Amino acid sequence: MKIICPDCKKIAFLADDFTLVKCSHCSLEMSYGEYVKYIAYKDARYSDILSDYKKNT
Ligand SMILES: [Zn+2]
Repeated sequence: MKIICPDCKKIAFLADDFTLVKCSHCSLEMSYGEYVKYIAYKDARYSDILSDYKKNT
């Protein structure tokens, strides 16, 4: 199925058996487990930015 590549924001592909995430645009290739951790890591950083923003307003 199609998913959003966390690196280049283009279309990446998730294997139907959820084993592999692959992006042909930036050659990202990782297991689904790694992908989930990668997304969580990026989201955590994004949330930090948002909470900092709220603190400053
Ligand atoms: Zn990509």
